[in-house]
Amino acid sequence: AKRVTGEQVALFSEEMKVAAFLRFTLEGDLRRAIGDDALRVVYQPIVDLHRRAVVKAEALVRWPHLARGAIPPPEFISLAEETGMIVPLSRSVIERVCADIAVMEPYLPADFRFCINLSGVNFMDTQLIPTVSAVLAAAGVPPGRIEFELTETVLMRDLDYATVILGQLREMGVRVAVDDFGTGYSSLAYLRRLAVDTLKIDRSFVNELDDGQGIAIVEAVIGLAHSLGLEVVAEGVETPSQLCALSARGCHLIQGYLFARPMPAESLLEVLGREVSM
Ligand code: C2E
Ligand code: CA
Ligand code: CA
Ligand code: CA
Repeated sequence: AKRVTGEQVALFSEEMKVAAFLRFTLEGDLRRAIGDDALRVVYQPIVDLHRRAVVKAEALVRWPHLARGAIPPPEFISLAEETGMIVPLSRSVIERVCADIAVMEPYLPADFRFCINLSGVNFMDTQLIPTVSAVLAAAGVPPGRIEFELTETVLMRDLDYATVILGQLREMGVRVAVDDFGTGYSSLAYLRRLAVDTLKIDRSFVNELDDGQGIAIVEAVIGLAHSLGLEVVAEGVETPSQLCALSARGCHLIQGYLFARPMPAESLLEVLGREVSM
C-alpha cells in the first residue's frame, strides 16, 4: 500500500509540474497580450421589456490565445488577480470600452450605458479612481455612460471602505451595479448604506426558475431592489418561460442568450438600430 501511495505522489507531482509550467507560460502570454493590446472586448445587450429596446450592454473581455484558442475569462481573470495583472488588464478593458463608446456616441440613445466588470483587486487599488477619471477624460466619454459591476462579496467585505469608494465613484458620475446578487449574504440594512444603482440577479437563480426553485430568491431580490429604488437586471435568461417568470414579478431588464450573446461593437451598433422583437 505504501508503494502505491508513493507512485501516486510521484505521478501527482509530475502533473503538478506540468500544471505549474502551463500556468507559468500562460502568465507570460497574458502579460504580453495586455502589453500588445491583444485582448478583445465583446458586448452583451441588456433589454428593457417595457421600452422594447436595448438600454445597456455589458462589456466582457476576450483573450484569443494563438496556441490554445479562446481561454475562458474566469480562468485568465483569476490568474490576472493572483499576479496583479488585473490592474493593467482592467485599465486596458476600460480604455477599449471608452474608445468604442467614442465611435458609437453619435448613435447612442441619451441614457444608454456600458457595464464594465471590476474585480476585488481593482476595488482595493488606490489608483482606481484617478485611473478611471483619467481614462474617461482622455477619451471624452461622459461618466454617465459607465456602470461598474462589482460582486456582492467584494462590496460587503469592508463596508466602511466600500462606502468611501462608492461615494467617490458616484461623485465622478459613474454608476455601480452589484453583480451576482443573491450569492452572498447582504442584508437590507447593509445594502441601504451602499450607494449602488442596480442589482443583478445571479444566473444560477434564473436557471432554477424553470424547476420552481429559484422563485423565492428572485422575488426577494426584486422586492429588495424596488423597495430601495434600484434597477434590477436578470442575467443568464435563456428561455421564454424564465422571461415570463421574471417579467410577471416585475423584473423588466433582461440579459441572456434568449435575446443575444456577447458580440463585437460593430454588431452592437446594428442591434441598437433595430427595435427589439419579442
Ligand atoms: P459575469 O460578470 O457574471 O458575466 C456574465 C457571464 O455570463 C458572461 O460570461 C456571459 O457571456 C455569460 N452569459 C450571459 N448570458 C448567458 C446565458 O444566457 N447563458 C449562459 N450560460 N451564460 C450567459 P463570460 O463572458 O465567459 O465571463 C465570465 C465571467 O468572467 C464574468 O461573469 C466575470 O466575472 C468575468 N469577466 C468577464 N469579463 C471581465 C472583465 O472585463 N473584467 C473582469 N474583472 N471580469 C470579467
Ligand atoms: Ca458582470
Ligand atoms: Ca454576473
Ligand atoms: Ca456570474
